[in-house]
Amino acid sequence: MIPHWEWIIEWFSRKEGHLHGIEDIYYIGNTKYQHVAIVKTGSFGKALFLDGFIQSTEYDEKIYHESLVHPVMLTSENPERVLIIGGGEGATLREVLRYKSVKKVVMVDIDDELIELCKKYMSEWNQGAFEDPRVNLIITDGRKYVENTKEKFDVVILDLTDPEKGTPGVYLYTKEFYEKIYSILGDDGLMVTQATSLRYYIFGFATILNTIRAVFPITRFYNVNIPSFSSEWGFVIGSKEKDPLDILSKEGKKKLEKLGDLYFLDAEALDHLFWIPKYIRRSIEKYKEISTDENPLELGLMDKTPMA
Ligand code: SAM
Repeated sequence: MIPHWEWIIEWFSRKEGHLHGIEDIYYIGNTKYQHVAIVKTGSFGKALFLDGFIQSTEYDEKIYHESLVHPVMLTSENPERVLIIGGGEGATLREVLRYKSVKKVVMVDIDDELIELCKKYMSEWNQGAFEDPRVNLIITDGRKYVENTKEKFDVVILDLTDPEKGTPGVYLYTKEFYEKIYSILGDDGLMVTQATSLRYYIFGFATILNTIRAVFPITRFYNVNIPSFSSEWGFVIGSKEKDPLDILSKEGKKKLEKLGDLYFLDAEALDHLFWIPKYIRRSIEKYKEISTDENPLELGLMDKTPMA
């Protein structure tokens, strides 16, 4: 018999959704920018939903955050200055702070109310990261920050909500935005962005990849299975000088061992991140679009989940 719980349906297309049994509710409400639900799900433990989509869960947030952060951080020779845009839960920050070389992290998120909720209800994610003296938390639109800052960074990490139509992340996936990121990176700087689902939004992933390819001389993409996202999740790196694949296969793995006991990432998992199934690679190459301020990538519910 099904226990008498509350349920949330997370829609992936008009014909597919994931039904989450809710055991406890910590917070449900609207901030100025987004609808927030922090709840305990039956399968994934505590979870953050923004505008109806899971952002991370207690059960597997480390898979996402370790995969997002470490490939670029390990490729950078000596990352001292890091910029994070988004990442409200504070777990991207937690992973960046593992590096002793890091002297300063600027974290820019648009939503102060969300940050306060994450500090209050999701301390398992941030583990005191917001209190680290190396951190400067700035509440503003990431695009505005990047357009006005005079600072330079070794690594930029974009941990943003997907560019869903009408949400504040849309103009942080365009060519003009990545050009700005390029200009605030040091000579051998790197950036990485989460780049949505390879299953539900393959054209979205391909568009983000094409857009970064139009700006950076070296780009690499990778993926990881995140159970609570019901999908392989995509990431794209833009690099000015260093090829992550060269560095990660040698020095990167040695540096990884020194980071301590990670939950997900070890040398084997690092290699595996860059393995993309053939049918997905072939599908990515089908799409030629790039996202611009004039014609930005804007995702929305598809009629049905596309076949890659
Ligand atoms: N793991 C996530 C995913 O897969 O989509 C991303 C999670 S993180 C919670 C997304 C963060 O991006 C939120 O904290 C949100 O407030 C922030 N954000 C969205 N648009 C932004 C913008 N224009 N400037 C700065 N932060 C933004």
